[in-house]
Amino acid sequence: MNDMVQQNLRSQYSADEVWSQFKPIVTGDDYVESLRGRNLKVYLFGEEIAEPVDHPMIWPSINALKASYDLATAEPELATAKSHLSGEQINRFLHIPHSSQDLVLKNRMQRKMGQITGTCFQRCAGLDSISVMHSITFDIDEAHGTQYHQRFLKFLDRLQKHNQIIAAGMTDPKGDRSKAPHEQADQDLFMRVTARNENGVFVSGAKAHMTGGLNSHWIMVLPTMRLGEEDKDFAIIGAIPLQAEGITYIYGRQSCDTRAMELGDVDKGNAQYAGQEVLAVFDNVFIPWDHIFMDGEYEFAAPMVERFTSYHRASYVCKTGLGDVMVGAAATIAEYNGLEKVSHIRDKLVEMTHLNETIYSSSIASAHESKPLPSGAWINDSMLANVCKHNVTRFPYEIARLAQDLAGGLMVTLPSQQDFESKDTGALLEKYFKGREDIPTADRVKILRLIENMTLGRNAVGYLTESLHGAGSPQAQRIQILRGMNVEQKKWHAKKLAGIKQVD
Ligand code: SF4
Ligand code: FE
Repeated sequence: MNDMVQQNLRSQYSADEVWSQFKPIVTGDDYVESLRGRNLKVYLFGEEIAEPVDHPMIWPSINALKASYDLATAEPELATAKSHLSGEQINRFLHIPHSSQDLVLKNRMQRKMGQITGTCFQRCAGLDSISVMHSITFDIDEAHGTQYHQRFLKFLDRLQKHNQIIAAGMTDPKGDRSKAPHEQADQDLFMRVTARNENGVFVSGAKAHMTGGLNSHWIMVLPTMRLGEEDKDFAIIGAIPLQAEGITYIYGRQSCDTRAMELGDVDKGNAQYAGQEVLAVFDNVFIPWDHIFMDGEYEFAAPMVERFTSYHRASYVCKTGLGDVMVGAAATIAEYNGLEKVSHIRDKLVEMTHLNETIYSSSIASAHESKPLPSGAWINDSMLANVCKHNVTRFPYEIARLAQDLAGGLMVTLPSQQDFESKDTGALLEKYFKGREDIPTADRVKILRLIENMTLGRNAVGYLTESLHGAGSPQAQRIQILRGMNVEQKKWHAKKLAGIKQVD
């Protein structure tokens, strides 16, 4: 630990103090209001932003999270659940799964949220982090006689009662991939404890591409990978309010994101919703003991990460909701072009649906095949969750390719909304971009812009590249599949049928 840090301790709030600042959230509008006035240090385009909530590039990502509150009101049977702590009805994004049905409903809700927003709605990593903390804190206490589980339950109860959003701060920058955290030339490349005192701990480091980071109320910081004994100071898990002193947020770019700053909604493709990723940099940020759920128990980092991936790789069922929008958009443009009855067009829609439902089936199967852990929380089947995420690294690309096939090249050569509205060129564009006679040209343009948005533009970040790299890149799933595939047993079956003598 660094002695210099001791002279530079940041404001040490207590857990009660920070909770007393929060008002419980009821509606989606309450949620948006709850994000205002937090005085966060946020940088975008090299400048500090006064109020992220009002920024044109940021608010569509807030709107995607707002939809999770609105869905809880509109469809409580799907998007709320009974808390196992208070017995009260809570948002399902804050519910610890206590049965396979809970995980099935979670998946259905995620698909629905994908259909509503057409983007990454940013809440699942946080949900998956609290789900994993339920069992990991229980297991650490069993092994070490610590008190993390009760502490975590108290935190969770408050989180549920305040109906807040928690983001997962999981991905450390990692530096030289061949080196362990303690071996890095720059020790800040993995989050670590810089100081401890009677009130809590101080952490430094950074969490990269944090989904919905700015739109949340809390960040659960968690180790990103297996740790050894010499990495003890990196084995830290805690919950940090976004406005804690010492955090700097730097906003991530998305392709075509500056279209959000243009006038008019058409060229945006999906003007209402977008995803968000930020880099959060922590400079000796304080966490009170009440919000610390692991401190030094390095041997639990690996099972924590493994359980997190079982939950989170099944959460990528979210992309089937976006896939539904893709199929719908492709079918709509085919109809607008007067081609909906052509057999190869129908067959392409069948292919897109088959791929999308294959993703869904692996995720929903992993929920049905879930098992309870000693804490009472249920966890997705790891093999099927990994298969789901691995499908997600491939199939949305093929679905997107087919949607672009049906859209035609016009999708990427269309003039701007301003040209369609111009007195000089509007009539010409109206005439020459007409499809079927009974379909307004403007509608044809809008659906093409949506396909552009999801396959090339802002929400292609969520539909494609996040599908590839989120919750671990493809190789990470192949490693898990290799570990779980039990090839010896499969060889035994084959040899038995072939009549080959074997030991048992
Ligand atoms: Fe949820 Fe999917 Fe976004 Fe991850 S990528 S936070 S699982 S919507
Ligand atoms: Fe993700």
